Amino acid sequence: MTVLICDPTDPEAIQAIEEAGIEVDNKPDITPDALMEIIHKYECIVVRSRTKVREPLIDKAENLKAIVRAGVGLDSIDVEYAESKGIQVLNTPSASTRAVAELTVGYLFALARRIPQMTVSMREGKWEKKKFLGFELHGKTLGIIGTGRIGCAVAERADCLGMHNLGYDPYVNEADHIEFVSMDELLARSDFITLHMPHTEETHHIIDTEAFQKMKDGVRLINCGRGGIIDEDALYQALKDGKVGGVALDVYEEEPPEGSPLFSLDEVIGSPHVGAGTGEAKARVGQVAAQKVIKAVKS
Ligand code: NAD
Repeated sequence: MTVLICDPTDPEAIQAIEEAGIEVDNKPDITPDALMEIIHKYECIVVRSRTKVREPLIDKAENLKAIVRAGVGLDSIDVEYAESKGIQVLNTPSASTRAVAELTVGYLFALARRIPQMTVSMREGKWEKKKFLGFELHGKTLGIIGTGRIGCAVAERADCLGMHNLGYDPYVNEADHIEFVSMDELLARSDFITLHMPHTEETHHIIDTEAFQKMKDGVRLINCGRGGIIDEDALYQALKDGKVGGVALDVYEEEPPEGSPLFSLDEVIGSPHVGAGTGEAKARVGQVAAQKVIKAVKS
């Protein structure tokens, strides 16, 4: 066998790899132990975030030429270690940009008009017109932390809604529709803050008690980036204190966030890490992953 599919992958992508004359073994539910046993047989593996590719697994992967991550984040792979062993690590960075940006914009509206809370109220047979006085996005300030592909796609969309975008990113200082400022200035001036950077040592708990103290009272927060960027205990306290007026989460420190008190609070809305979860994004991820597998195996 040449290619092992370790996580659920678009059937058309698998077909495209097979049509290129490459043998594929499709084991989308493979356990970590089973993977350890068979990885030596393969030249290429395709993973999503479920399968972790850590040093002990890489040590067993004696024939591996490439790890293809069907998605963006590489935090589930020991990239430097793999590359030190001559294994290429490839991903599909742009394929899900639009889907995540659209979910973020959806959360802007959901937080401003409390759409999920209104739906719950309607399901309970209530008609609470006064309770649900919302506010408009037009004229509000959106702070974007992490102005890479998704941060910039959010900025473009927010600009169309009449929002003013502030940006903070230690590695970027110019982009369309964004006024770049320091982190402290962004925290102090933003009505909404949205996070679009990876979870690294540098970004771990970047939004903590101290950061919350620097924000406007009643600020709305969105995290469609990565769990671990926000200190969830500090977030819970900031919500209880009324410092944060609402939060929308797609990603969590623990996934699923079992036992987290956050969802006991009315002002917390969320989704089960589905930022990239559109049919269009999944198809694009599959197509790009298939192209990368074919190139890696045939080179
Ligand atoms: P990207 O690499 O294009 O952008 C990330 C940006 O974060 C970069 O510009 C980088 O300079 C910046 N950054 C790094 N450290 C920072 C720091 N300390 N402070 C502020 N900014 C910092 O990546 P992208 O494609 O825009 O994706 C952004 C994030 O979204 C990634 O973490 C990715 O894992 C996540 N993501 C989530 C989903 C989902 O399903 N919710 C889907 C796709 C991507």
